Amino acid sequence: MKILINGGGIAGLTCAIALHKLGIETEVFESAHEIKPVGAGIVIQTNAIKALEYLGIEEKIIESANPINQLAILDEKGRVIKNQKPASSNRELFGGLAIHRHTLHKILKSYLPDNIFFTNKKAISFSLNDEKVNLQFEDGSIANGDYLISADGINSNIRLQLIPDSKPRYAGYICWRSVIDNTYPEIKEATETWGSKGRFGIVPINENKIYWYATINSSRFDVKINHYSLQNLKEHFSDYHILVREVINKSSDKSLIKNHICDIKPLSQFAFNKVLLIGDAAHATTPNLGQGACQAIEDVMILHHEISSGKDIPTAFKSFERRRIEKVKFIIETSRKLGAIGQIENKFLISLRNTIFRITPDFITENQLKKIYN
Ligand SMILES: Cc1cc2nc3c(=O)[nH]c(=O)nc-3n(C[C@H](O)[C@H](O)[C@H](O)COP(=O)(O)OP(=O)(O)OC[C@H]3O[C@@H](n4cnc5c(N)ncnc54)[C@H](O)[C@@H]3O)c2cc1C
Repeated sequence: MKILINGGGIAGLTCAIALHKLGIETEVFESAHEIKPVGAGIVIQTNAIKALEYLGIEEKIIESANPINQLAILDEKGRVIKNQKPASSNRELFGGLAIHRHTLHKILKSYLPDNIFFTNKKAISFSLNDEKVNLQFEDGSIANGDYLISADGINSNIRLQLIPDSKPRYAGYICWRSVIDNTYPEIKEATETWGSKGRFGIVPINENKIYWYATINSSRFDVKINHYSLQNLKEHFSDYHILVREVINKSSDKSLIKNHICDIKPLSQFAFNKVLLIGDAAHATTPNLGQGACQAIEDVMILHHEISSGKDIPTAFKSFERRRIEKVKFIIETSRKLGAIGQIENKFLISLRNTIFRITPDFITENQLKKIYN
């Protein structure tokens, strides 16, 4: 039996490792020419750390990453609105591992033999033929397998072939990201600053670097904001607190990554007999909960559990779907709402929001987190 995996991102690589551990022949097809040091940072949270532990691949990631023990939400002057940190009895409700995406990819890839990973292979569609799945690539070549797991991200060609109306939905804000050296002894934990001009996140990651991100409301077609340079971002956030300004000042235009933040409307089907959607291809979410990759890793844990319990593959795919649909729907919907709240620009509503956040008892936040982390 051979399973093809389309997409060599976090979902595809983790899935290949899990299948490899189960002794299932696997091939991974990635559209990029090579895995380069692209991307910025990422936070792997408790639920995904547990899933990595289940798969037995947590050690190198824990060794390489920077542990995050708290996330403080600040207002634009740098005053704390809410500080999420572990109550001593509830340590596993908070915390995560902040790591450069390139480091994470390199570690995941190190668990796989090189000869099952093919770059420069952009899949355009699949077909079923004589009990086999054929994966067609842009270069005209075809791969055959018994099953296909599509892990090709939010713009998945395979998902669009199966569910043509599952196009990404724009959330109304653009995100810029970058990584710089951490020369600030005071930056040891993650912060997210919420102000009337958008949000600004600062996360210390491995190798003494800082990963930062900024989100600004914009229509998809606003020519001015869509073409913001670092200088424009400096001016945009010029009345935010000093660390925001310093972090932008230290960055360079060439390291800036821009994304229109999108998700996909929760789907009611991930399993299509011989084909399964996982990761962002199945349930792309806005990044407001920092859960997209975490959910992709959770997917793989559940899939591994289903296959290792002895079910045939189409039955395992269907059970996977049953176990994942509600959880990822909750993540997509909660994250989208949190993004809308975080991106409020009206000063009166901001003050109301900040007050509500300040007085919300910790147990309410913890109950939300339990739903995410369990
Ligand atoms: C600004 C931002 C911040 C985020 N922060 C976090 C965070 O802190 N924590 C977290 O858990 N998540 C975070 N996420 C979400 C996370 O990045 C995604 O959920 C995660 O990368 C999904 O992994 P994936 O492998 O499913 O998809 P992708 O990472 O998109 O990987 C898909 C892979 O498939 C390849 N591919 C695409 N099309 C094809 C094709 N046709 N044929 C072959 N290969 C193809 C791509 O090149 C890519 O390598 C963030 C997202 C954004 C935008």
